[in-house]
Amino acid sequence: MTLELPETEPGTIHRGYLDVVDQLPTGAPEQLPLIVADGEREGPTLWVTGSIHGNEVTGVAVCQDVVHDALPEGLAGRVVSVPNLNPAGLRRNRRTSYYDNDDPNRKFPDVEYVQSDADPGETVDGPRPPNQQAIICRRIFDLFADDADVLLDMHTAMAGAHPFTTTRSVSPWFSSSRPRSISTGTSSGRRPGRRSTTPGFPR
Ligand SMILES: [Zn+2]
Repeated sequence: MTLELPETEPGTIHRGYLDVVDQLPTGAPEQLPLIVADGEREGPTLWVTGSIHGNEVTGVAVCQDVVHDALPEGLAGRVVSVPNLNPAGLRRNRRTSYYDNDDPNRKFPDVEYVQSDADPGETVDGPRPPNQQAIICRRIFDLFADDADVLLDMHTAMAGAHPFTTTRSVSPWFSSSRPRSISTGTSSGRRPGRRSTTPGFPR
């Protein structure tokens, strides 16, 4: 299964969903909310994502607010907003999904996966099949790695914390410098912003 973004017209906003898992054990699909602002002029593509940690809900609001109705007017390029990357965590207001108790931000593919030809639904970690959140992360990774010039991934720390940003090159083995990822959040000051040069998704 390969995810695709909808066709959009310049100067418009598309609001819908990405079906990231066809059929959960409950029989229903798993969906991520999707907002695409297609600018009037051509330009780079910015992705904004939120709530990979399900209880970090400020990212949900930011991702919704940034794509306001007037955004496509005068915009050069596109903004692709996915307010929630972890529906099973947001539903229960917890950091982890209810598919397991692992950190969902560790479910994005690492070097071994990206350098392989593995299907997004396959595991490269061992004999156990990937859980639903791992499948979601791998499929959404493949989509933004192909589409995004810049990714802003929104996190939340605590009330009164100082904002911080971490930057990391996701994929130096890709042919160009894209995509670059920027993970944003707030900090108490005990966890200062950091910069890393090792490949992989922001942790
Ligand atoms: Zn987080």
